Amino acid sequence: MAKFVFITGGVVSSLGKGLTSASLGALLQARGFSVRLRKLDPYLNVDPGTMSPFEHGEVFVTDDGAETDLDLGHYERFTGVAAKSTDSISSGRIYSTVLERERKGDYLGETIQVIPHVTNEIKRFLEQNEDEVDFMLCEIGGTIGDIEGLPFFEAIRQFSQEKKPFSCIFVHLTLLPFLSSSGELKTKPTQHSVKELRSIGISPDILVCRSEVHIPNKEKEKIALFCNVDKKNIIAANDLETIYEAPLAFFKEGLDEAVLQVLNLKSKNEPDLTIWNDVSSRYRTSEGSVKIAVVGKYTILEDAYKSLSEALIHGGLANKTNVEVTWLESEEFEKRTQTRRLNKYDGILIPGGFGKRGTEGKIKVIKYAREKQIPFLGICLGMQLLVIEYARNCAGLKDANSEEFEKESKGSKDHLIYHLSKWIKDQKVEIRDKIQNKGGTMRLGAYPAKINKGTMAFSIYKNELVSERHRHRFEVNIRFQEALEKSGLTFSAFSQDGTLPEIVELSTHPFFLGVQFHPELKSKPFEPHPIFSIFVKKALEQTRLV
Ligand code: GLN
Repeated sequence: MAKFVFITGGVVSSLGKGLTSASLGALLQARGFSVRLRKLDPYLNVDPGTMSPFEHGEVFVTDDGAETDLDLGHYERFTGVAAKSTDSISSGRIYSTVLERERKGDYLGETIQVIPHVTNEIKRFLEQNEDEVDFMLCEIGGTIGDIEGLPFFEAIRQFSQEKKPFSCIFVHLTLLPFLSSSGELKTKPTQHSVKELRSIGISPDILVCRSEVHIPNKEKEKIALFCNVDKKNIIAANDLETIYEAPLAFFKEGLDEAVLQVLNLKSKNEPDLTIWNDVSSRYRTSEGSVKIAVVGKYTILEDAYKSLSEALIHGGLANKTNVEVTWLESEEFEKRTQTRRLNKYDGILIPGGFGKRGTEGKIKVIKYAREKQIPFLGICLGMQLLVIEYARNCAGLKDANSEEFEKESKGSKDHLIYHLSKWIKDQKVEIRDKIQNKGGTMRLGAYPAKINKGTMAFSIYKNELVSERHRHRFEVNIRFQEALEKSGLTFSAFSQDGTLPEIVELSTHPFFLGVQFHPELKSKPFEPHPIFSIFVKKALEQTRLV
């Protein structure tokens, strides 16, 4: 049976619970343990799939097709363990399961209540596949004191009571504000946060204290005394230059050791931090920089493209160079002459997106990148727009467009980018109606793609069969392949049945690639995705040309 580590947060949100959980997962792996990380979110949406990226940041898609919280991306990037749909739960999903069961009569006439019915459902979620790993790390979203988080806190309290001793441990993340006027670190908010946690029956075993400045021993002693936590278990989390040094920093502070000690466990092996030392040394020895422009729609909130910005950093690590990303609003490019602003960038990227707004601006950007031979990567919507641009400006298909942007005018078959309503997944036919629910109705999750030899795509992957994650409703129409290929665009990869284009490229350009899937979701600092490594490499070559 797994040991459970519950990670909660206090004082303020955005302290980095996700990164702390992910780093702890990486450190436990370095000691020979197997881990799985889970996120419990108190919001009422069934999953984040329908939430605006402005509200909630990126939607992270798992191999098995779940639309989950972006923290699952951190977990994967730090541990390399592919997240599953069973690793993410929200109040919305818990309540809808409870209500479904109530309608079916499963509760035999009982009055349905938060305790025990909702808390039991949360506990059931926690226990799924618990035998598969040594450690189950469960992060509770939100901050202690939030009304909507209470059922989760109550459930983990009960859960730890019901398990054998030394099975569960509570890690609480707080903030020590630094008052520059008096030059003091303040421990009071942490004391209050722990008090709040205790009032609902949870005593933290370990406190991770975020602070801008070094936490002196004296302050650690004070927190230990007032919060009733062993001083060894007060872990400082100072700001770092890169998140990828967090595992090393937590190791120095003894976070993993504290976890093992509280659980009365011995390390399986001497901690092996080779991959993290390597990532850190690549970061520290990186030289120069490449400038990448990302032209998108949700650029005011960087979290909306979290995996993408991380994957670009990984591409930099692979080439030992820094990647400077500038986020540009696509609508701006709809005005005349704006594309000239792009000449200072070494590479241009158009990420995934939904809806018409800004798409004509993006098409102009793609044209500019193609004509000026600037390395260009189009992801998902970015690939669809690349094909539209090429069709309009190089293949004489002046009216080429996507069904997503001009819904009523033509039938699906006549659109260059059309709505896919039927496809095969795991030997089963999936059917989607255009007017179905918005949630979970896309081609979601990992699908295999076959790459044609002799293409740039093949030279990137060095493999004929790859698996990548999807999240989209529309597809490039294969009926237009011949016309596009005649005018120079290469279709370099397809779905296994050969009907859905997966990668397109231009052989007369240093790097002009469109991918229907999201390679950024699989990139890791210790294993950068080859598409990002080569994209950054080509952009780097561009800087040397100047
Ligand atoms: N809006 C497009 C579609 O649904 C692209 C989606 C995306 O970029 N993730 O097909």
